[in-house]
Parts: sequence; C-alpha cells; structure tokens
Amino acid sequence: MTSKPSLTCEALINQAADRIDSDSPRLDSELLLSHVTGLGRTSFRAWPEREVTESQAETFEALVAERVAGTPVAYLLGHQEFWSLPLKVSTSTLIPRPDTECLVEVALGLPLPEQARVLDLGTGTGAIALALASEHPGWRIMACDEVDEAVELARENSRLLALPVSVAKSSWFSQLEPARFNLIVSNPPYIAGNDPHLGEGDVRFEPASALVSGADGLDDLRLIVTQSPDWLVEGGWLLVEHGFDQAGPVVALFRDRGFAEVQSLQDYGRRDRMTLGQWADTRRAMVPLNRGEQSGLQQGGSPDAQ
Ligand code: GLN
Repeated sequence: MTSKPSLTCEALINQAADRIDSDSPRLDSELLLSHVTGLGRTSFRAWPEREVTESQAETFEALVAERVAGTPVAYLLGHQEFWSLPLKVSTSTLIPRPDTECLVEVALGLPLPEQARVLDLGTGTGAIALALASEHPGWRIMACDEVDEAVELARENSRLLALPVSVAKSSWFSQLEPARFNLIVSNPPYIAGNDPHLGEGDVRFEPASALVSGADGLDDLRLIVTQSPDWLVEGGWLLVEHGFDQAGPVVALFRDRGFAEVQSLQDYGRRDRMTLGQWADTRRAMVPLNRGEQSGLQQGGSPDAQ
C-alpha cells in the first residue's frame, strides 16, 4: 500500500512547482493553492505544515495539471491584477500585462484637462480604461471592443470596481457615435501572423484576435493612426502600445499622418514599446503666431472643439 500523500501546503506547493514549466513555478503554485484554499500566500510561509482538505488537494491538483499543460494562471484563477485593480479575465480577451501599466503611466503624465474625454480602443478586460478611471474620476472615459464577450467583461469589471467607464461594441472606430477625445489609447493586436512566439507560453491560450494583426503586425496600428485624427480634439493625443521592434515603423506612421510631438517611450524592460503623438493643426502652426496667441500644439480645452 502506498503511503498517503502529504496534504501540507508546503509539500503540495513544492510538488506542483517541480512540475510547472514557467518563469515562476513556485509563484504559480502558491497562487493556485491560495485560490483553492482561500489562504493568503504569506500564510504558506508562516505555517507551511498546515494541511488542506482532501477535496482541496484534488481541486488544486486539477488546476496544477492544467497549468502544467500550459493554461495561463490568470485564466485558471479567473482574475489578474492590473494597476492594483483585481480584474476579471476570460479566454475571450488578452490577459493584461504589467508592461501595459507603463502606457497608463504615460497617459497620466500628459497635460490633459480635468474633464478629459478619453477613448480606449480594443479594451479587452477594460484594463487601461479602468486604471485611468481609478486615477481620474473626473475624466469621461469610453472604451470599445469588437468582441461581445470582451464588452460584457469590461462592463462587468467596471461595475465590480465601481469605476465608471462606458463600454461600446465597436471594431475600432467603425461603430462609435461621432465624438472628439482629448486622448485615445490603445493596446491593439500587433504581432505578425508568422511570429514563432505565438507558439510559446501563455499566448497560445489567448485569442488570436487580440494578438495578431496581419503579415507585419501593423494592420490595426495603421488603421488606428490613420483614423484617430477624426476623433481627436485639436491638441489631443494618441498613445499606442506596440512590439519592441516596431517603434521605427509606428513613429513613421504617426509622422506621415501629420502628428506632432511624436516620440517612442520605453517599457519597464527599457524597450521601445509605446508611441505617442499630438494632433495639432499643422497648417495653423505654420502661420506666424501673434505674441500671446496659443500655439497649435497646446491642449484644446473643449472636448468638442475641432
Ligand atoms: N505584449 C503581448 C505579447 O507579446 C502582445 C499584446 C498585443 O498584441 N497587444 O504577448
């Protein structure tokens, strides 16, 4: 007869961590056991010999088996923290990444009016829009996604977190009511269809519609950069996330479209992962300004200004 398997937290965590092939096997293992038992992760260190019930151990084992097969932890837990907000996630959306918090930081650093109108294109879980709403209750934040489940999920996250974001179903701008925004943000799909990374790690389980964008990964970014000026106030900003090797072409897209103040910004790993530009009426800026007249590069005050 085989001896009874140990049900202590420490043993369960160690055995699972040995089997999980990820960058953070022990963390994954602790998060799953915490999810199953309701115990905080710190308690595993404070009281490692504490025993869980047999049924908890079985549920844990089922989750570990899925993790070993590659399912992302966030999908197993059903939530992911972003900007300190516990967001519900589902397999119909991208799992919010820590790097995208850099985009939130950049957005928060822009000179925007107190009641800025903001649009988050392709919001997924609602991560960016909700992070901005948590920092700026006065901003009027709208988000859209083309996927029904994502629209539902973003609305649910908005409700659960009591952060007002109005979520519309729209593929980019196509189904939005005409409006002008002070800031448009987006973390669109930007991976090239043949990128070998699509066959590795968590992305294998995420929806291709949230990841892949044409042969060079830039199809959606081209559309967003091309169409954004019709949705920005004069002096409004467009801020997008992109791949670490796409800053050159994305900066060119912004400049060719007539954006000013175009710059690439880095993520936490110091890679060029975002591009920012300001929509200014360059024809006006080329006219010699009278002293004291506002330059075209300043932020338009009224959201409905052309
Ligand atoms: N940053 C993600 C990744 O590399 C991709 C996100 C996206 O396409 N928007 O997995």
